[in-house]
Amino acid sequence: MTQLTLDECDVLVIGAGPAGMAAAVAAAFGGGSVVVIDDNPAPGGQIWRDGPGVELPAAARESRNAMVQRANIRVHCGTRVVAAPRARQLLLEDAERGWLLQWKKLILCTGARELLLPFAGWTLPGVTGAGALQALIKGGMPVKGERIVVAGTGPLLLAAAATAAQAGARVLRVAEQAPLRDVLGFAAQLARWPGKALQALNLMHPGYRSSTHVLSARGHGRLASVTLRRGHGGMEEFACDRLACGFGLVPNTELGRMLGCAVTPRPSGPALNVNANQATSVPDIFAAGECTGIGGSERALLQGAIAGHSAVGRTIPSDGMREALARWDAFAVQLHRRFSPGAGIRTLAQPDTVFCRCEDVPLGALTGCADWNDAKLHTRCGMGACQGRVCGAAAQFLFGWSPGTPRPPLSPVRASTLAGFAPPLPDSPMTQGE
Ligand SMILES: Cc1cc2nc3c(=O)[nH]c(=O)nc-3n(C[C@H](O)[C@H](O)[C@H](O)COP(=O)(O)OP(=O)(O)OC[C@H]3O[C@@H](n4cnc5c(N)ncnc54)[C@H](O)[C@@H]3O)c2cc1C
Repeated sequence: MTQLTLDECDVLVIGAGPAGMAAAVAAAFGGGSVVVIDDNPAPGGQIWRDGPGVELPAAARESRNAMVQRANIRVHCGTRVVAAPRARQLLLEDAERGWLLQWKKLILCTGARELLLPFAGWTLPGVTGAGALQALIKGGMPVKGERIVVAGTGPLLLAAAATAAQAGARVLRVAEQAPLRDVLGFAAQLARWPGKALQALNLMHPGYRSSTHVLSARGHGRLASVTLRRGHGGMEEFACDRLACGFGLVPNTELGRMLGCAVTPRPSGPALNVNANQATSVPDIFAAGECTGIGGSERALLQGAIAGHSAVGRTIPSDGMREALARWDAFAVQLHRRFSPGAGIRTLAQPDTVFCRCEDVPLGALTGCADWNDAKLHTRCGMGACQGRVCGAAAQFLFGWSPGTPRPPLSPVRASTLAGFAPPLPDSPMTQGE
């Protein structure tokens, strides 16, 4: 058995989205060694996801160049965090090897994922998340000529529709569950963030309808049609090739929670709790971006920079960074206020609707379960390949069940990687937080 190599760095940043890139650049001013880990093939995170045919916006190119041009920053893409076998140490794996990385300061910038909620037909091939459709298209999936319905809630729907339309798809409907008064209320507030107002105008789609949500998807072996419910009780049905459906975003807190970081309730679900310097409840661990609450890339960039400066003990520059962050925090408040899924969304799934798609558990099987652990033990809900990342967030949203502390491995891992490091001694702490 080959022993894994042990690498070390002064500052380790997990996630190379806007928050992670800004954190790395700010931390690099401290002069120490900075390592950035991301499981995607290229830096950029969700909003600036790179791929064949993607033309990155200037802000994305600037952030990426600022990071890769620093001699003291090393970036490892296509790399997953597997476990935290010892204090201040993470076990990592990429396509070729597993290795251990010892850090002095850690900055978690693990972002967010879509909230996917079950409804009849949601597991049919052709049904994806709204952001997921965007990611597939950016990754090179052809959609030219396809008929697409986008549904769910929040501004991401319009971004997904625009990506699909640019790729040659026919977007038949953008169904926003929020009522018209909330959509208009949000639009009226956008004058405070002129860039966002301009973006919204550019993205607006003629098929956009408020008070409209998905009811079911149908097809034999593949999506063939979608039924939507309009606010006044009417229905509309579309024959289509794809349905992209997302109900907002939930913070990725698994790694932080595994390390013992406290979470705090937020409208979008539990998020890593941070102070004004982005420090978490665990000494020397910081967090920034959407793992601390959903609020957009501008907020993520600012939080990332503050986290990077704080991690290396530098004073936060007094050039309006905190004021700007307060402005984007206010934007986040508007987002949640106007686009929180309404009551109709909570009753989409029926007792026979698949709830956990990895383990094929219907919603009805959860009747009588007291909490998430009870559901796992009695139904195997959340115990499949995604480890509850999809149905755990749905259970939290629908039933208020808190997920337990994640256990390693955080992601699927090769046996050779696990075999390559000596297990911790029985009395040594498994994680930083214990
Ligand atoms: C699917 C999706 C699509 C989106 N599309 C848009 C859009 O078009 N426009 C828009 O304005 N906003 C979009 N958003 C919102 C956008 O994500 C945020 O505004 C912004 O990107 C947040 O930046 P961040 O750095 O906090 O996180 P992210 O951009 O999410 O970056 C986090 C990074 O960390 C990596 N990561 C997470 N956990 C680990 C781990 N354990 N090990 C290694 N790497 C890890 C992720 O792969 C990701 O690259 C989207 C969000 C999602 C979920």
